[in-house]
Amino acid sequence: MKPLSKNIIFALVTILILGAIFSSYTLNTEKPEEVTLAALVNEIQNQTVEKIEIESSDVSITLKDGTKQTSRKEASVSLSESLIDYGLTAEQLKAADITVLDRSTRSYFLGVILPSLLPLLLLIIIFFFMVRQMQGANNKALSFGMSNAREIKDTKQKITFEDVAGAKEAKEELLEVVEFLKNPKKFSDLGAKLPKGVLLMGSPGTGKTLLARAVAGEAAVPFYHLSGSEFVEMFVGVGASRVRDLFTRAKKSAPCIVFIDEIDAVGRQRGSGLGGSHDEREQTLNQILVEMDGFDPNIGVIVMAATNRPDVLDPALLRPGRFDRRVILDLPDINDREAILKIHAKNKPLAPDVQLRRVAERTPGFSGADLMNLMNEAAIRTARRNDKTVSQEDVLISIEKVLLGPERKSFIMNKEEKNITAYHEAGHALVAHMLPNADPVHKVSIISRGSAGGYTLKLPSEDRRLHKRSEFLDDMAVMLGGFISEKETFKDVTTGASDDLRKCTQVARELVTRYGMSETLGPRVFGEHQEMIFLGRDIREQRNYSEKTAEAIDLEVEKLVDGAMQVARDIIRTQKSSLDLISHELLEKETIEKEAFEALFVKT
Ligand code: ADP
Ligand code: MG
Ligand code: ZN
Repeated sequence: MKPLSKNIIFALVTILILGAIFSSYTLNTEKPEEVTLAALVNEIQNQTVEKIEIESSDVSITLKDGTKQTSRKEASVSLSESLIDYGLTAEQLKAADITVLDRSTRSYFLGVILPSLLPLLLLIIIFFFMVRQMQGANNKALSFGMSNAREIKDTKQKITFEDVAGAKEAKEELLEVVEFLKNPKKFSDLGAKLPKGVLLMGSPGTGKTLLARAVAGEAAVPFYHLSGSEFVEMFVGVGASRVRDLFTRAKKSAPCIVFIDEIDAVGRQRGSGLGGSHDEREQTLNQILVEMDGFDPNIGVIVMAATNRPDVLDPALLRPGRFDRRVILDLPDINDREAILKIHAKNKPLAPDVQLRRVAERTPGFSGADLMNLMNEAAIRTARRNDKTVSQEDVLISIEKVLLGPERKSFIMNKEEKNITAYHEAGHALVAHMLPNADPVHKVSIISRGSAGGYTLKLPSEDRRLHKRSEFLDDMAVMLGGFISEKETFKDVTTGASDDLRKCTQVARELVTRYGMSETLGPRVFGEHQEMIFLGRDIREQRNYSEKTAEAIDLEVEKLVDGAMQVARDIIRTQKSSLDLISHELLEKETIEKEAFEALFVKT
């Protein structure tokens, strides 16, 4: 766009300059004296004439002393005849140097035609540039349909399986794909049909994108990376044409990998959702299906896709011949966490006291991305301390930062608020400590973090995949501990407990409707949860039960919350002295670590 406007300015300036030159040519010449033919005859007879030029009826005369004169002759009669009529002899006429200029000579062109052509020329040039620009826009409109997949080829920092810690099964599964990409012929000679599509599934941050790139790095083949949302544009049909283009490009450079990240953006179950974007998604998805069916599996194009919502994917995507290979990435367990931490500690100088195993122990539920973030925060903290090596403390403190958001020391509470917060957190901590199925307390604090006024950090002692009903019940009691503690101590409640109450109610409802853990309603699941895309995400519950059941559910939720409330109240009432102790300690020290917290109970 920029060079184009420069061009236009340049053209305009040129035209202006040319115009100026020509107009000076026609206007600024001194008007020569006009003489009669009789006077001219006189001058010829006196031999003062150097030369005479005739241009139609204009006669220009140059005298020997250099002065110029003009004269006019009759158009139909030649100058010689006229001069002879005026009394010039034939000899004198011969002596005079007379040239007849053609009408279409240079001066005529410059003087008459060009000035009148100039505005026209200007218009043509402007028009030309306008057309050019419009074509530029047109080209852009056409390129909408082109896939904007980034091709990542042999980048300097090639990612290999070494860069992906843990995920052993996933790597094994993908090794087959690597093998195939390296040597497709070996497989096709044996008549083996290879998978066309590999679907990576796992929670956000478990390394799906990373693993896909590692496969490309291992196989050393071109890697086309495209995000599902990039297919969806404002214009209907663009997504589908992008898919076509992407596959055309991929087939040309086979063997290669086409990686569609976040495929749920287009591959959502058809027929759900409102609004216009949904037609477009459907078309794009159909095109992906058509393309995947269309190419020969042994050509060497492997389509990889990643999603963290396999449950919402259209079943057509998952059928054999499409994404039939599924690789599941779990949240890392303690050993994997340690390995991931090691990878991300590689380029960071660690102090000798750092034990990554301890860090891994304290970070159950962290994803690979969380752990990367954790090491990064630790390094930032070190830099801000002006130290050269990352210490264990830097890492441990960063765990909380990643979990709960940054501390807000500047968030000043008045004395009363501080008191209430201390009792609130002490309530959570006390109940958590007393209940066998609740996660142990790691830290209690009344320093606000993120949006919370204070926090009680509980971490499971080990990785858990399954959750027991008793755990949910104890968790609910812990959540209500803060609310009950406030109520028992101050005979009043604050808005500080609202989030706890919301979460507690949600757990109770899920217990009943999703996990079938209610005793009265039995092992049944109620309601179908469907995600609707309309002005952002929204989860709608589709009711598939009667009004009567709805009432029963509400009643059951109430009963569960009441039960949890009872448990918490009993603990707070019977252990009032411990509650006071924890609260006072909190008011004094603001933060109590696990060891100090447990020591409080030994004393009493
Ligand atoms: P996803 O695509 O599953 O949401 P990513 O692949 O984008 O997650 O992972 C984000 C970052 O987390 C990666 O760039 C990587 O640094 C880190 N990470 C995640 N899993 C691992 C792992 N298993 N090993 C090493 N690093 C990991
Ligand atoms: Mg990703
Ligand atoms: Zn609370």
